[in-house]
Amino acid sequence: VKNGTKQNYVYYDDSIRRRLREEKDVESRMLKALEMREFTVFYQPKVELKTDKIACAEALVRWQSQDGTIIPPDRFIPVFERKYMIDRLDQYVFEEVCRFLRDRLKEGKQVFPVSVNVSRLQFYNQDFVQRYVDIRDQYQIPPELLEIEFTESIAIDNALLMARIVNRLRQEGFSCSIDDFGKGYSSLSLLKTLPIDTLKLDRFFFDMSSDPERDMAVVEGVIELVHKFRIRTVAEGIESSDQVEDLKRMGCDFVQGYVFYRPMPEAEYAQVLDS
Ligand code: C2E
Ligand code: CA
Ligand code: CA
Ligand code: CA
Repeated sequence: VKNGTKQNYVYYDDSIRRRLREEKDVESRMLKALEMREFTVFYQPKVELKTDKIACAEALVRWQSQDGTIIPPDRFIPVFERKYMIDRLDQYVFEEVCRFLRDRLKEGKQVFPVSVNVSRLQFYNQDFVQRYVDIRDQYQIPPELLEIEFTESIAIDNALLMARIVNRLRQEGFSCSIDDFGKGYSSLSLLKTLPIDTLKLDRFFFDMSSDPERDMAVVEGVIELVHKFRIRTVAEGIESSDQVEDLKRMGCDFVQGYVFYRPMPEAEYAQVLDS
């Protein structure tokens, strides 16, 4: 698109059309896919840097369509959000996680806390917190095993709403985590208003400029500040062991990234826990 030749415009046009078609396609299959239970949950462990051991995991949804192909969330989450169907998908994932934890608890097997992603759109839903509490109670999951991840909002009215919801979630015993910090308009002022448990540093946080020393100083400063509020930090998307060493030195609490584990199907995650 950059050099604006005719060919490139044609290509651009094509790709927009392709995206629209894809979106229509997703849209028309979503409801059926929920009914047919085509969504599965993958688990990606988070490793505690103090012990080098798994401490918890994040649940990440996948769409496994009838023909066996796996569709990544970036392709369908935005469509679910636009169609106001994201709450159904998020709850489906949450329930799957509760089922998994219940089964393992019943069998006396080891479990770690699991975090689930909750779309910010759900915050506008009056009974969102109660529904999550109901599902958790139905599966009899101890509250400390569940964490809610959500991204920060930039609008002021949303900030107030968000603080209210986070407070309620924590009253109900859920841990709360801010996702994607450092990507987009994150601001540290959220520390003043949001009583969160964990801050997840987005991988883009680690390559902000062409000045690595400066980057490191920023990351280190944020970790230090956040710790003063007794908030723990997770570095996300970490792929190299050099980065892990740096993060250890800076006092980061957890790492979630390919360097340790990729997201994996439930059965594989269970095997990792059992081994
Ligand atoms: P996220 O919440 O920031 O999740 C982390 C993403 O980073 C995951 O992508 C994960 O596979 C990927 N990742 C983990 N380690 C590495 C690494 O070392 N390198 C790289 N390059 N990537 C890594 P995934 O699974 O494709 O999910 C994408 C996004 O979709 C998630 O980003 C989240 O925003 C959304 N999402 C996933 N599951 C759900 C869900 O159940 N509900 C909602 N509302 N959103 C979801
Ligand atoms: Ca997340
Ligand atoms: Ca993230
Ligand atoms: Ca992300």
